Amino acid sequence: MSALGFQFGTTAEGAVINPSKEQDSVVVSTCFLEGDRPLCRGTGLAAALRDTLSPVSVVREMEPLARRTTLRVGGAATVWLEPAHEADLAAALVAARLHRQPVFLLGRGSNLVVRDGGIPGLVVCLSPPTFSALTVEGDRLRCGAGARLKDVANIARRAGLAGFEFLDGIPGSVGGGLRMNAGAMGGWMFEFVEWVRLMEPDGQILTLPASEIAAEYRSCPRLRTAVALAAVLRGKPGDPDAIKASMDRNNARRWESQPSQPSAGCIFKNPGPELSAGRLLDELGLKGLKRGQAMVSDVHANFIVNLGGASAGDVLGLIEEVSDRVRCARGIELQTEVEIVGRD
Ligand SMILES: Cc1cc2nc3c(=O)[nH]c(=O)nc-3n(C[C@H](O)[C@H](O)[C@H](O)COP(=O)(O)OP(=O)(O)OC[C@H]3O[C@@H](n4cnc5c(N)ncnc54)[C@H](O)[C@@H]3O)c2cc1C
Repeated sequence: MSALGFQFGTTAEGAVINPSKEQDSVVVSTCFLEGDRPLCRGTGLAAALRDTLSPVSVVREMEPLARRTTLRVGGAATVWLEPAHEADLAAALVAARLHRQPVFLLGRGSNLVVRDGGIPGLVVCLSPPTFSALTVEGDRLRCGAGARLKDVANIARRAGLAGFEFLDGIPGSVGGGLRMNAGAMGGWMFEFVEWVRLMEPDGQILTLPASEIAAEYRSCPRLRTAVALAAVLRGKPGDPDAIKASMDRNNARRWESQPSQPSAGCIFKNPGPELSAGRLLDELGLKGLKRGQAMVSDVHANFIVNLGGASAGDVLGLIEEVSDRVRCARGIELQTEVEIVGRD
């Protein structure tokens, strides 16, 4: 758990953790009896949010998360929130702190393995329209955190702005793309970021230039403890037809090289600039390795696919087995690119 108690469930940069150790400090819902009446501690947060937030904000309890992730595994969010606007988001973050509940931001769930016991505390999703607007201002794009990366690529294409083609095939949101510094085909998110508007855990809003936000390979550490609300991206003028042709080429490459079954994209980070995790696993003959209904893809060895009805336990068991085999055969300690969150 981070110092601010804001996110939990992964190590600093995504390696698999021991949940029993890592989550000792997380306050989770516990049921107990008072007379004949079961009381659920933890639901107090949902009640507080319903009392405090505007009625347009969506608050639910025990919201299933498998359908909200691309891998389609995992349990439920103890409290689920789609805030109507920034004021409600700020109030919710403050309420979660008061109730000593952890907060997790869920984008489009395309880089996550949610454990089977779900995510305790508050899970916030910025999918409402107030957080998902996309506007073009000259050579700049103003993007809400909830907007789809694919939509960013397409609005840029229509506006004749080049550079964003690589975003077309990444099935995430702007918020998740910023947090992960998503990249493909030689491009990455922070190459284009001018400003990020973010919210601190105490509800304070800051607008920071990219020069003040460190971004590295598949990570923007500043967003471990802050919520990305929006970003301004700057493109280069380009010909819409040429941009479309480049997007089509990228997509064709993806169709050839990536599986069509549910997945969370690349499971492991590349161990080095010259060594791709996919090639390494392929060389070790791990394609097709199965655990329950989870399988190392036979199309791309760095993808684990859900063959239908896999549990997070299947996926995590397979990740462990692959990591063990790589360690034994090559002495390499793989790090996960996907984030493993929640409790068993
Ligand atoms: C088929 C497939 C192909 C993929 N290809 C690529 C690729 O080419 N390149 C690549 O980089 N990735 C790829 N991915 C992985 C994934 O799409 C990216 O990492 C994406 O940026 C994740 O965005 P998301 O909205 O789904 O985030 P989520 O998976 O929901 O969350 C990821 C992280 O971002 C955090 N987060 C989400 N929203 C916010 C916010 N508003 N503020 C702060 N933190 C936030 C979450 O808490 C979590 O830590 C692929 C995934 C799939 C399934």
